[in-house]
Amino acid sequence: MSLITPFDPWKNSLCTCPFKYSLSAYTGCVHGCLYCYASSYIRNFSLARAKKDFLARLKREIKKIPQNSIITLASSSDPYQPLEKKLRLTRESLKIFENYKLRINIVTKSSLILEDSDILRNLERVTVSISLTTLDEKLAKKLEPYASSPNQKLRAIEELSKYIPVIVRFDPLIYELNTSEIPKIVKIIKSAGAKQIITSTYKIKPDNFKRMLKIFPEYKNLWEKLYLAEGEKRNGYVYLPEYLRKKLISLVRLIVLGENLKFSCCREGFANLNTANCDGSSLLD
Ligand code: SF4
Repeated sequence: MSLITPFDPWKNSLCTCPFKYSLSAYTGCVHGCLYCYASSYIRNFSLARAKKDFLARLKREIKKIPQNSIITLASSSDPYQPLEKKLRLTRESLKIFENYKLRINIVTKSSLILEDSDILRNLERVTVSISLTTLDEKLAKKLEPYASSPNQKLRAIEELSKYIPVIVRFDPLIYELNTSEIPKIVKIIKSAGAKQIITSTYKIKPDNFKRMLKIFPEYKNLWEKLYLAEGEKRNGYVYLPEYLRKKLISLVRLIVLGENLKFSCCREGFANLNTANCDGSSLLD
């Protein structure tokens, strides 16, 4: 099986990403995000492991990828989780990319990425997407127990923004757990130097909903009413009802545009609201 694969192998009809490839050095992730979607389709997800012969295979496969292709690291396992500190497979991948004409987007919830600043500065076309869900340190510890804290992420956004375009994935919006933070988060992201904000609402998968209810039992009635009674099933996920998703996404958009940032939403069915490619790849042009 190839390491570098076309993104979105299931061809989700709500996905509006331009064609791109996806590459993960690791299978599984230890950040432990309650809302994680990838845990529903990757076996033993919390037991992160490196892919076999990763670097040797990458060196072979990269030669076949067309020039100017977009490669995302990574779509379902964080490229800067603790294993990276030991194995440095993401770092070595970036060194390999230095020899090719590619467009690279790195998606992470970890400030460990700052240790690769020396290489990131040298890559011709690279963007970094940092995921930020809340500014509340206590809430973050419950939602994403082993990812970097909100303050560490903000520091990473600030540092990286000094020399490359940074996108912030302000998602998922979890009604009403983090939605009161919308104005504050957008403003702080802007002042940290990001160029684009991507957002999306939380979608239920059976395993993530179980984890969410275990930690936030006080939201059980609200979420069951909104998702299970009034929500809609799309592509194997349960979404909030459309009126509420549109309201939340439009609120983020209004504030983002007021701050002169690019805006997009991910897999919501509101591509008409986007002012740039949904995945931030316009910043790689
Ligand atoms: S960082 Fe991403 S892949 Fe890892 S647990 Fe969190 S949501 Fe899942």
